[in-house]
Amino acid sequence: THHDTDHPPDLERHYKVTKKILGKGSFAVVKECIHRHTGQSYALKIIQKKDIEGNELDILKQVRHRHIVSMHALYESDTAVYIVTDLASGGELFQQLLSKGFFTEKDASHLVSQILEGVAYLHNHDIVHRDLKPENLLFQTSEENANLMITDFGLSKILKNHDDILTTSCGTPGYVAHEVLEQKGYGRPADIWSIGVITFILLVGYTPFYGADQAELFACIIKGEYTFDEEYWKDISDSAKDFIDGLLAYQPQQRLTAEQALQHPWIVNSLTNDSRNP
Ligand code: ADP
Ligand code: MG
Repeated sequence: THHDTDHPPDLERHYKVTKKILGKGSFAVVKECIHRHTGQSYALKIIQKKDIEGNELDILKQVRHRHIVSMHALYESDTAVYIVTDLASGGELFQQLLSKGFFTEKDASHLVSQILEGVAYLHNHDIVHRDLKPENLLFQTSEENANLMITDFGLSKILKNHDDILTTSCGTPGYVAHEVLEQKGYGRPADIWSIGVITFILLVGYTPFYGADQAELFACIIKGEYTFDEEYWKDISDSAKDFIDGLLAYQPQQRLTAEQALQHPWIVNSLTNDSRNP
């Protein structure tokens, strides 16, 4: 048979790689592929080997959680690694945020609780995501209230150069914790900070830290000061603000853990009062 690409033969044997590009990230191109035997669609993430360090990919194969895009198979060619994962056909949370502007507290709380559940699982397995942002949060289907899934987890752990994540042209580094920018630490609390930034932006549609250029943005993050501007925040609950303060605590040790954040009233109460699940 003739292949118009250099995909590994093993991969081609099991999956038909379509021309449909699902997305591009900082390192990967993601295409849709179809399992030949079952007809089931998956996402195929292709990463150039020159961008990868070590081989911790096998660890990633063991990760199974409702809120995490899981890996089904792994192939390699001389130059690239091909990762077959669940297909999340509902698109990026980023896109929904752009089209909606912002979310209600209840919807935001429901979204953030799903992110936290996935991150708590990763943290319990010694995996720090390191690049949590709305572009890496995907809806499983295009239905309303679809399951939210984290992609890209742990891959930054195996990527050669952390600085690439910060300086890459794709997206702003507005979600990165100050201790990461200062190269002082890349632990679990860095993910919590990112979830704090995500919660903030979901509620009001703008980011807590900003700058006219990258240098100003970095300076703003390192300062770590943000405000709940009355104009946008006056109708938002104190509980939401307290929750964000807990995630954006300046000292990494003082930030809530994922498990603690899941117990916060803003998460717990909004879930129990959830009219979608009476
Ligand atoms: P990178 O590590 O390069 O950032 P990602 O895993 O974030 O790569 O993938 C890049 C983009 O591809 C995502 O932002 C998303 O739009 C799309 N994508 C990634 N994984 C999937 C998936 N499982 N299903 C559907 N689209 C995906
Ligand atoms: Mg990504």
